[in-house]
Amino acid sequence: MEFTDSSSVPRPSDHMSSPTISRQDREVLTESAKAGMRNAYAPRSGFPVGAAVLTFHGNVYQGCNVESVISGLGTCAERCAIDHAVAHGEYCFRAMLVTSRLENPIRPCGACLQYINEFAQIGKDDIVIFMVGATGKVARSSIWEMLPGGFGPKDLGLDLSRYVKNNSEGLSED
Ligand SMILES: [Zn+2]
Repeated sequence: MEFTDSSSVPRPSDHMSSPTISRQDREVLTESAKAGMRNAYAPRSGFPVGAAVLTFHGNVYQGCNVESVISGLGTCAERCAIDHAVAHGEYCFRAMLVTSRLENPIRPCGACLQYINEFAQIGKDDIVIFMVGATGKVARSSIWEMLPGGFGPKDLGLDLSRYVKNNSEGLSED
């Protein structure tokens, strides 16, 4: 049996830079995620979470966690926000922001990182991930940093071209 040195596995972060997100875009994401958090359906955990994604077209879609009385059902705020954007025909994202009522920023769970990675492969670019605490503490990372070398549709050679929009539209930089 032959083993491949993991350092030889292509890592997108080696040749891609993380998008620049303006302060204004981050503020819009934060307000949107907080609005999403207020709508969370979390009767089991009592732990509302809000998220928002910024698309390449400059639109922001909010999400919240949605729980279920059936064990294993329900979804996280981050995946809800992505699904919200997808329902509007947007598949390419520049940034994701997640917030909760905890003072310290919370990280997306492993399932959400995998989900975000799927769409990073469609957009062919890194996705900035902001994690914002209740009193304004901000942590910044990115999907390539948090899930380096993640498996995705590219590994299956899938044709994603129909989901790729003109990514140069609607960009705003500092
Ligand atoms: Zn999650």
